[in-house]
Amino acid sequence: MFLRLILCFLYISSAGAAVTEEGFFVWDSTGESLKILNQHKEISIDHRTKEGFEAYGPKGLGKYLKLLKLDHDVLAEMHEDNKNLGGYPTPEEIEKQLKDLVKDHDSFVKMFSIGQSHEGRELWALKFSDNVELDEVEPEVKFIANMHGNEIVGRELMVRLVDELITRYKNGDQTITELINNSEVYIIPSMNPDGAAAKRRGNARWSDLNRDFPDFTTTDNTNDIEGREPETKAIMLFQAKRKFALSANFHGGSVVVNYPWDTHAEDAPLTDLIIDLSKEYASFNEPMRNSSRFQDGIVNGYRWYHVDGGMQDWSYYWYNDLQVTIELSDHKWPNYSEIPQFYEENRESLVQYLSRIHQGAGFYFPDLPKTKGKVEIKKLKSFDNEKETALGSYPFSGGEFYKVLPLGKYQFKITLNDGTVHKMISVVDFNNTKVNGNFQAL
Ligand SMILES: [Zn+2]
Repeated sequence: MFLRLILCFLYISSAGAAVTEEGFFVWDSTGESLKILNQHKEISIDHRTKEGFEAYGPKGLGKYLKLLKLDHDVLAEMHEDNKNLGGYPTPEEIEKQLKDLVKDHDSFVKMFSIGQSHEGRELWALKFSDNVELDEVEPEVKFIANMHGNEIVGRELMVRLVDELITRYKNGDQTITELINNSEVYIIPSMNPDGAAAKRRGNARWSDLNRDFPDFTTTDNTNDIEGREPETKAIMLFQAKRKFALSANFHGGSVVVNYPWDTHAEDAPLTDLIIDLSKEYASFNEPMRNSSRFQDGIVNGYRWYHVDGGMQDWSYYWYNDLQVTIELSDHKWPNYSEIPQFYEENRESLVQYLSRIHQGAGFYFPDLPKTKGKVEIKKLKSFDNEKETALGSYPFSGGEFYKVLPLGKYQFKITLNDGTVHKMISVVDFNNTKVNGNFQAL
């Protein structure tokens, strides 16, 4: 009864999504209060530390915390007098920077909008590939940054990465040439430009976009686009049109690679591979690698703190697109002059992570581009050895399939309407990239 009374203080938004109108640091070293707070879909928990965690919610959250007798402070970022951008570009200035960068390089990079924010700003994406106007049979990898508007470092790193990819490709750099010629790289520097313009976590409607995706462990377990925020919808539609096999999602407020699941205690499929990719990212980033809080600079999402409706799990669960969440900076909005240093710390990790798209295998039907079916993957000890480990069954469509996999030998059992094909494929080190990234024609 008492709890129900308390709940009346909370405004429940119509979509039931997490709202970010109030934000606090809750001093709770045991995390005991998370049991109660996690029951409210409209509350987001973020960045748990030894001392406590961040909690965001609708108006009334502060009163609610008081009623629960939870010690809490308003987060500095929530103060209205903290809205000056401190020298950071506006979303419109970012758009101009990106357009200037890609200008004159339309043979290998193009910029396009995947939709609009609530306030009508374009959600810009960049695609890098040779024959950039064509949809070639190449593995696809993507980066998305700034879905929390006030976590700004990722957006800035993406702009610098775009610049670096262009420069190194033009200069014939081997790593970047192999990457761009044999894959499709997509970068979305700002998923939440309205939030960035207002230095705010949520979008213009105060919604937390990283709690707005379909969640496979809740009642919201269908991949349904209805009722979601415009920025979420744009990403969902874009993802459905493409065939991403690897991606990362950049945040701020800590320094760590957070890997799936966020919503579920069990290990995600191919957890060893995911840990390997996460550790590799951290290994090139000195502050991350040397983290005193997170061993090897990585952490399983669920063990850190539970998130429902995050983009990472949605991407991996529904699209077999392996995604990690990379926290880039302790301060969400650091001094603008620190950005070059952050870029230096991350540049090698970023490029290396993109290159890992080539550690995988796939197939395509050159003469039947609309073919759909199912593929069962088994890892083999050797091509003539019986021992095998089943790695699951995956639907495919559009005549192609690709998956990032641990090194080794595999059997792909491909089932179509009119029969079954077996294909043996080796996944080799990504430094031995084949043309079109280890896709085999059937
Ligand atoms: Zn975030």
